[in-house]
Amino acid sequence: MSFPRLLSVLLVLLTAFSSGAQPAPARPAPGKPLTVYFFDVGQGDAALIVSPTGKTVLIDGGPPEAGEHLASRIKQLVHAPLDLVILTHPHLDHLGSLRDALQAVGAKRFMDPGFDHPSEAYRNLLEFVGKEVDQVMTPEPNPQAPDTFLTVGLGEGVVLTVYWPRFPREPFLKNTRSDANSNSIVTRLTYGKTAFFFTGDSEKDTEEALLRQRTDFTSTVLKVAHHGGKHSSTKEFLEAVKPKAAVISCSHDNEYGHPTAEALERLSAVGAKVFRTDLNGEVQAVSDGVNVTLQAEKGSRSKLTVPGEVKPLGSSSSPAPAAAPTPKPTGGAAATQPPNKPGGETVQTGYKPPVSAPAPAPAPNKAQAPAPSAGQKFVSLKGSAVFHREDCGTLKRAKTKERTVYTSRATAARERRPAEDCKP
Ligand SMILES: [Zn+2]
Ligand SMILES: [Zn+2]
Repeated sequence: MSFPRLLSVLLVLLTAFSSGAQPAPARPAPGKPLTVYFFDVGQGDAALIVSPTGKTVLIDGGPPEAGEHLASRIKQLVHAPLDLVILTHPHLDHLGSLRDALQAVGAKRFMDPGFDHPSEAYRNLLEFVGKEVDQVMTPEPNPQAPDTFLTVGLGEGVVLTVYWPRFPREPFLKNTRSDANSNSIVTRLTYGKTAFFFTGDSEKDTEEALLRQRTDFTSTVLKVAHHGGKHSSTKEFLEAVKPKAAVISCSHDNEYGHPTAEALERLSAVGAKVFRTDLNGEVQAVSDGVNVTLQAEKGSRSKLTVPGEVKPLGSSSSPAPAAAPTPKPTGGAAATQPPNKPGGETVQTGYKPPVSAPAPAPAPNKAQAPAPSAGQKFVSLKGSAVFHREDCGTLKRAKTKERTVYTSRATAARERRPAEDCKP
């Protein structure tokens, strides 16, 4: 089965840290908040990030019945196409209203784990996304720096780092309780001393894989995995994240018993103050780079301010350098720039800059490494087992318009054989 799917690697580099003359950590510009909205979508997840410079990232789109609510909230908060939409994993309670969200304001990029899932809802979403979104990608580590994590710069020093999955660098987790859950896209959003950890429905196996990365996961706010299910939020993981506040997204009286007493106990053991969308409605968390203030729509815990205790990026000696120098494009090549350097935001793919990418800033230093297939796309016709170079004559002669476009040969080769005619 063929999904319209442009896959590529997204790497982004960051911008101005208006440094407040202090030694590290650099202070974000005062008055420029980073806001995360945890929407009340019932039994499911949907969170919107709005960066200090107005960059927007939607993580998940709730269950189908939340469509109207989600679309209207997004229309109120977002006035341009979403910069990035992340589907953490292909379950209906995360993708059910994504189409409504996308139709509300549009989106420039879509990322999902790239983990095969047979559901019709997922297939339909991919078809829609393939037509409506410029760039569709998986969180593939940059082939030029495969040991680093993929990072997305959102301006003012705000960085979204993707920790899982790391296919093809590391295999997907298999034979777990739920492979779809276990391969959820896991990200951490950092701003000054504050951080947010987004888990999707990741489970114990994911948490073990994350802990093996031996990097700093300390986060001020944790979006609790799997709606507070008992197979997630292990003691070891929570002790690594050290959340001051935790948000659980679930519906009142849901049939799964979410959140579970086990998860709530483990959260309480690490001192996390819990917000729940079933009791608190929408939860908004605002970071000024030093503290995070969480405000709930309703319920007894309506407002809480917690201090961030996150080490600034680049200051840790973790073996996998999170957002340390990240490649950026210079006419198809890659180069690096320290994350805290003032400059324009840059988006980069390992192979070809996206159509909508801002112009690359001059790259001050090192690591020129053009991908072997820089700029080249690969195309499969519907139902075909092979892929072609995009300029192959066979494609021009083919009657079917339904085709799958790959921005990397590696991705194409995972799904199809190279065609004999153009030998891509
Ligand atoms: Zn799930
Ligand atoms: Zn879920």
